[in-house]
Amino acid sequence: MKVLKFGGTSVANAENIKKVIDIIINNNDAQIAVVSALGGVTDTLIKAGTLAEKTDENYKEILKELEKKHLDAARGLLPVTHQSSCLSMIKQQFNELEEICNSAFYLRELSLRTKDRIISFGELLSSKIISAFLQSKNINHEWLDSRKLIKTNSNHGFAAVDFEITNKLIANVIKLSGKKIFIAPGFIASDENNNATTLGRGGSDYTAAIFAAAVNASSLEIWTDVTGMMTADPRWVPNAKTIKRISYQEAMELSHFGAKVIYPPTIAPVMQKNIPTLIKNTFAPDDAGTIIHELNNAPLGDGGSIITGISSINTIALLSLEGSGMIGIPGFSKRLFEALANEKINVILITQSSSEHSICVAINTNDTAKAKQVVDKAFEIEIAQKKLEPLKIETEQSVIALVGDKMKSHPGISGKMFDALGRNGINVRAIAQGSSERNISAVIAHADIKKAVNVLHEAFFESAYKQLNVFIIGVGNVGSKLLNQIQQQQKFLEQHLNLQVRVTGIANSKKMLFADSGNGINLKNWKEKLQQSETMQLDKFVDTIIQKNLRNSIVADVTANDKVAEVYEQLLSKAVSVVACNKIAASSSYDHYCNLKSLAKEYSALFLFETNVGAGLPVIGTLNDLRRSGDTVTKIQAVLSGTLNFVFNHYDATKPFAEVVKQAQDEGYTEPDPRLDLGGTDVMRKILILAREAGEKIEMEDIANNSFLPAECFKGSVADFYKTMLKHEDHFKKLYKEAAEKNCKLKFVAEYENCKASVGLKHIPNDSDFYHLYGKDNIVLFYTTRYPEQPLVVKGAGAGADVTASGVFADIIRVARV
Ligand code: ADP
Ligand code: ASP
Ligand code: MG
Repeated sequence: MKVLKFGGTSVANAENIKKVIDIIINNNDAQIAVVSALGGVTDTLIKAGTLAEKTDENYKEILKELEKKHLDAARGLLPVTHQSSCLSMIKQQFNELEEICNSAFYLRELSLRTKDRIISFGELLSSKIISAFLQSKNINHEWLDSRKLIKTNSNHGFAAVDFEITNKLIANVIKLSGKKIFIAPGFIASDENNNATTLGRGGSDYTAAIFAAAVNASSLEIWTDVTGMMTADPRWVPNAKTIKRISYQEAMELSHFGAKVIYPPTIAPVMQKNIPTLIKNTFAPDDAGTIIHELNNAPLGDGGSIITGISSINTIALLSLEGSGMIGIPGFSKRLFEALANEKINVILITQSSSEHSICVAINTNDTAKAKQVVDKAFEIEIAQKKLEPLKIETEQSVIALVGDKMKSHPGISGKMFDALGRNGINVRAIAQGSSERNISAVIAHADIKKAVNVLHEAFFESAYKQLNVFIIGVGNVGSKLLNQIQQQQKFLEQHLNLQVRVTGIANSKKMLFADSGNGINLKNWKEKLQQSETMQLDKFVDTIIQKNLRNSIVADVTANDKVAEVYEQLLSKAVSVVACNKIAASSSYDHYCNLKSLAKEYSALFLFETNVGAGLPVIGTLNDLRRSGDTVTKIQAVLSGTLNFVFNHYDATKPFAEVVKQAQDEGYTEPDPRLDLGGTDVMRKILILAREAGEKIEMEDIANNSFLPAECFKGSVADFYKTMLKHEDHFKKLYKEAAEKNCKLKFVAEYENCKASVGLKHIPNDSDFYHLYGKDNIVLFYTTRYPEQPLVVKGAGAGADVTASGVFADIIRVARV
């Protein structure tokens, strides 16, 4: 004989109930089908009772709606000729229910006993409707009254089963019946006075296990709305996978720590009798689902994961009992747990520090007030003597648990767990590892729980698959190229690097847009969407990023804006990585630069700015590699301004200097204010950043700038600047001719040596590395201990939207690869 259990969604309406009946009919074995109330009915019944108790007459309306729901289901299932007795049964049940609620209304009281009575109607109605449907199809069966078969104590709402009596009653009734199919309501039972009791929310699973154990069933099948027990709650983790096989103990741990798919007490009765238990999907009956069986000795599961699943309890409170009075004195923990147990407060997790200064326990949030009262009372004397602090309570906490039988034979799991959480800025408040080493659980802030489940799922089940959440500020020339490149590469990255680059937010100076779907912003029509979206407010943009609290979050700053550079600290200290094309932060004060780097380190985020020097060229990366491998940079010589190269490569004194500058600006090689390039500030920033990355403590004021622009050029607007250049055309001609006469070219060179840095225009003879530098190319020569005479040379296109965007993109990918 088999026992099948159908949950609330499976029996939510006539259409679904028909699927359930198909499953029952297709099963050739003798069977007991245990059913839940129609989906949502238990909650609604509780609401009706609670409103009645508060003398709110709306309970009548609620009962009417519930009655209609059941009448509709019956009408949808039964042929008209068979309807009348079922419909009158439903009406009669609702009359009775209304009378009970009326009493609660008049008495202004809803005892736990009455509440159980009210909610017992849910399963009674569903099972009777299903029985009527089977009857109408002439399927021989018997309806079992679980209240008469499952006997419990009188702990209403959470009654404890008397297995001795229950097992006998069930076995007897089945033996005497001679039928092959039985329908029984789940969840409900009765005490010795025959008052209705219930087995705890979600308790129909338990009812089914009780029946299975009593009849020594060949298997128990839990039919629900998902394909089996999954590696995490599929509502939170879209990539959650069905666990094919799982041990009873693992299933028990996962359900204890919140995997709602199975009610925790369900496992014990079937485990004792070694009854294989399946979790199946009513809406995809051919899917294999999950089999729960004896200890999981199988080789590592699909994808080689050591962890079987991740679950979470979303709202708990953390209690801490602390004080020097605890040291070395036995019995403190006993008194604490006794105080909690006397009040039936369930302890979810316990940790005690080895210094014995504190004990931490996690409990349900609903129990906090009671816990505070009883614990402070139990330790009244010690608290008065200041040996102990009054009980400390932190609410808004959650527990996350990793479960797997194979954990004990594989070291490093907790390291990986806490590393993944830390990298994503998730603070761990308490840790517990069961002595069975089948579970590691941690208490974290409730605000982080969804992120944490995803982070750990990614770390343990998608180690080859990582999601990046990218927020891009600045979608001008470079930013839009970056979005194009991301769009073009998305498939490739998913297939070859198992990396999902998801653009989650975009902003320019006017508008900001956030993704509303799990796939991120659609990169085909982001321009229109951005135009229609809300006004950009930088602080709101940053708050939203922090609020969203997504794993592997990265902000790409593709602006040249000082206000944007000011938000890096806030982002890094929330473990959001920053990829900057904007040079302002890395070239700001040395203290600020150091602070950003140390914040990144502290919060395990990255602060990357490769495109600050040489656009997409690997300049900073090369320098970092040299230093990390133990080399010392002694000198840097570089031509670092694509703009100035462009200008001096195109200027031959035949057309005005201003015209060449304008061409450079039109082709996108200059900063919005070209004086930043021509006046040398931009190159100063770049050599400053290189010198700092080489280990030098240096500020902008320490760099000598031998500017070639007449001082007047720095006055007024950009438009004025063009006019002033025309006025000084002779000055530019002279610069050109002096160089040409010596067969030299003009290059704006940056140098760093012996703690000093400088920038300025130089005459470059034709035997120099710098002579053959065309278009917008940059060149950097690194002289180091390992490259003392022949420098390490990095050369190539050092400006332009495409190469800069690809440099930013490469930094984004770098964040993923650490
Ligand atoms: P039923 O009404 O059939 O008893 P429940 O709603 O009680 O169904 O349990 C099924 C739900 O449990 C699923 O819809 C899913 O959202 C949730 N769930 C939470 N954790 C898990 C998990 N690890 N595996 C599968 N489902 C889970
Ligand atoms: N109907 C009950 C509940 O909603 C029992 C169950 O569905 O398992 O808690
Ligand atoms: Mg359930």
